[in-house]
Amino acid sequence: MNDCIFCKIIKGEIPCEKVFEDDTTFAFLDRSPVNHGHTLVIHKHHHADIFDTPEHDLADLFRTAKKMSAAVMKATKCDGINIGMNNKPAAGQTVFHAHVHVIPRIAGDGFKLWPQKESTTEQRVKTAAAIKQF
Ligand code: 5GP
Ligand code: ZN
Repeated sequence: MNDCIFCKIIKGEIPCEKVFEDDTTFAFLDRSPVNHGHTLVIHKHHHADIFDTPEHDLADLFRTAKKMSAAVMKATKCDGINIGMNNKPAAGQTVFHAHVHVIPRIAGDGFKLWPQKESTTEQRVKTAAAIKQF
């Protein structure tokens, strides 16, 4: 994709701090990290999000995400890792080249994950039935 910033990063047309590359995937530091070492993992094939990405490319993507999780954990001496993938604008996606966030977490860093709601058994049973149809 000609106007995709992550495709440009892979091609070296936009500078980045590359931390890993293999035949199929590429990893570099997020320019606005949650914590230092926050890494983005992308496939060299342009796919917009998880829905567009074929399973074999997702396997490449998550294989590298696992590898980078271990590398970031060791390099930053963090206490944990969040793996995140935002898909579609409603979920917070701002760059439409599928990517996995590898986010180092430090005990007591105070960052909260998403808020949670109460739910009833009735609601869960109904929602589970709807999801199971697909
Ligand atoms: P999203 O919100 O789509 O899941 O995440 C996109 C991420 O890409 C953001 O965390 C943002 O900071 C990062 N980002 C956007 N543009 C650039 C860039 O040009 N270089 C780097 N290194 N990171 C970028
Ligand atoms: Zn792209």
